[in-house]
Amino acid sequence: MTITVATLGFPRIGPRRELKHALEAYWAGKTSEAELLDAASGLRTAGWARQKALGADWLPSNDFSLYDHVLDTSVMLGAIPERYRSADGEADLATYFAMARGTTGGHDACGHGSVTACEMTKWFDTNYHYLVPELAAGQKLALNRLKVVDEYREARAQGYETRPVLLGPVTWLSLAKGRGVDPFEMLDEVLGLYAAILGQLAHAGAEWVQIDEPLLVLDLDEKQRRALTRAYARLSRSGPKLMLTTYFGGLGDNLSFAASLPVAGLHVDLVRAPEQLDPLLKAAPKSLLLSLGVIDGRNVWRADLEALLDRLEAIAATRDLVLAPSCSLLHVPMDLALEKKLGDVAQWLAFAVQKVEELALLKCALNEGRDSVAGELAKASQAAANRKTSPRVHNPAVRDRVAGVSDAMYQRAADIAVRGAAQAAVLGMPAFPTTTIGSFPQTSEVRNARARFNRGELDAAAYDTFLREETERTIRWQEEVGLDMLVHGEFERNDMVQYFGEQLSGFAFTVNGWVQSYGSRCVRPPILYGDVSRPAPMTVEWWRYAQSLTTRPVKGMLTGPVTILNWSFVRDDQPRADSCKQIALAIRDEVIDLEAAGCKAIQIDEAALREGLPLRQRDWQTYLDWAVGSFRLSAAGVGDATQIHTHMCYSEFNDILPSIGAMDADVISIETARSQMELLEGFAAYRYPGAIGPGVYDIHAPRVPGEEEMVALIRLAQQHLRPEQLWVNPDCGLKTRKWAEVKPAIEAMVAAARTLRVSA
Ligand code: GLN
Ligand code: ZN
Repeated sequence: MTITVATLGFPRIGPRRELKHALEAYWAGKTSEAELLDAASGLRTAGWARQKALGADWLPSNDFSLYDHVLDTSVMLGAIPERYRSADGEADLATYFAMARGTTGGHDACGHGSVTACEMTKWFDTNYHYLVPELAAGQKLALNRLKVVDEYREARAQGYETRPVLLGPVTWLSLAKGRGVDPFEMLDEVLGLYAAILGQLAHAGAEWVQIDEPLLVLDLDEKQRRALTRAYARLSRSGPKLMLTTYFGGLGDNLSFAASLPVAGLHVDLVRAPEQLDPLLKAAPKSLLLSLGVIDGRNVWRADLEALLDRLEAIAATRDLVLAPSCSLLHVPMDLALEKKLGDVAQWLAFAVQKVEELALLKCALNEGRDSVAGELAKASQAAANRKTSPRVHNPAVRDRVAGVSDAMYQRAADIAVRGAAQAAVLGMPAFPTTTIGSFPQTSEVRNARARFNRGELDAAAYDTFLREETERTIRWQEEVGLDMLVHGEFERNDMVQYFGEQLSGFAFTVNGWVQSYGSRCVRPPILYGDVSRPAPMTVEWWRYAQSLTTRPVKGMLTGPVTILNWSFVRDDQPRADSCKQIALAIRDEVIDLEAAGCKAIQIDEAALREGLPLRQRDWQTYLDWAVGSFRLSAAGVGDATQIHTHMCYSEFNDILPSIGAMDADVISIETARSQMELLEGFAAYRYPGAIGPGVYDIHAPRVPGEEEMVALIRLAQQHLRPEQLWVNPDCGLKTRKWAEVKPAIEAMVAAARTLRVSA
């Protein structure tokens, strides 16, 4: 039987973030539209050439995007909200970027006034953000820029036969937000447009189209199932053969439904859900071309190819197969060969380029026998064996410690009310105590000093002096403005996860391992490869220094275990819960050391706790139980009088409130400034026992709020909570703001708290 290789999508940012640089130069007005488009087309060509050379048979086109593939789909369908439409109604590049980024001030050359960007949110459970499609009542859709056809033709002209990628209509509709209309009412209109697009692709010569419906791995409702049935009944008659592509999880209860849709091929994720292979083989007619996602598109580990072949050989003897990554390679860094400093760890890793190589090896082994690639297979097995036993990965002391964790270690000694009294006695906070979330502006001076230090242009002593001066200035300013609980400002931190990862054993860092987060923005997630331990205290000296400058309490500031886990590439050789517990123990050590140094209040940030929720609701509780457990394990080593704070920068809590309560933090700060304290209703209904700092200053915008506005917000909060439960603080850290904004805003915030104290 014939075995082929597909990639589903390739990193679009370029090996050296060329797209980022091209976009930012264009936005800054330094280059022309033609130069931007030229750079983009160069990246596409290089991507096709690379994938082909690596042995891919099915090259994707239209996986590239100047900003976001969901936005591309919206523009393709003409789903352009009124406020972005230019006078001549044309969806040009200015319209596209206005939707992506908003515009500031005046009217630009194309007549775009000042508008905010479309809403942005996370793509399933990844750290990639898409722009939410928006549909209004009475909106007329119409085909626009057919980028998908253009890019197919572009590839073809260069000699590459591609399989264009489209985001499926039902997933697109499910992601869309309707204003006065249920997006599904537009199903038939949308299907008509998709049918037309497929017709044009067929006309241009496309034999197959990859149509992504990741929705199929979620809990579907009847409306979505009906829409899928209707969609594929119609689209399968529209021209090219369809490879219906699912990823990020198993089809689960949708499996027989998906396998019965009238499409020519079906792609499944066998990394997240290997158990679906057998039922799928039973359910899938021989005429359905199966695409097996056997290489992890969401993580950076090298595969054990022989183990995969053990599973695949019997199947490959009975039917044609496409081998593919579990999902688009968009979510992993481009090329491991660009990393020179990973040492031993490198042998266990595979980035996008290496993953295509792995697929090509599997193909050879299946088509021509294992002997044809024996040497390569042996190397992969060797690396896998190595990883199972390497002392860099396995640390018996960590294992013993985890095994010895007792129930008591998850439990503070006294309950929250008793602790509250003990803390009040020690801390002596006024009513409506004021504080901030941790960071103060990371100015260009701070970032420059760090860059010069990293390049060796500034020596350690000079850098340290610089950071101390920044910290001292910030402590002085907080005293002057009258904040009650101070912070040191986090000037020494590059990033709230990386800073800790760099000091813990078990983490590795890349130099070029960038992954697109949104638009031109990329992140370099740490790689958690081994058992985690904390060789030495990480933050104690900075805290001690800051506290030495003032008599007011300075909060210790840590990132929590769940957030460190969720913002890293993590081990696939043990459950996430186990990795999280190891990190929790390391943070616990830091918490205990801070307390021993005299710290009275310690904040453990869990910014990413909610985003780690599994895609299927039935898996939520298991996750929440171990995630909350890890937080508790990190926090519960201190005495009653030490106040544990946590911070979460989001506002959807109602569905997970019992778990938030179970974290048992003494004080939690949350985002609320933009939602008028509405979410506090949930906290009230749940009788949340702890103290809460509902953010009164929206730090996500440059705007400086006034005192009255903040007083009004806290009064609203008081409708839901007892006054003694309330803290007064911004929504999140201030690192992205300018001092010129922060100073008046915090002054007003302190004034607001004082007003409330007088009138209380
Ligand atoms: N302590 C961190 C800061 O202030 C918290 C940031 C976050 O939650 N994203 O920057
Ligand atoms: Zn935050």
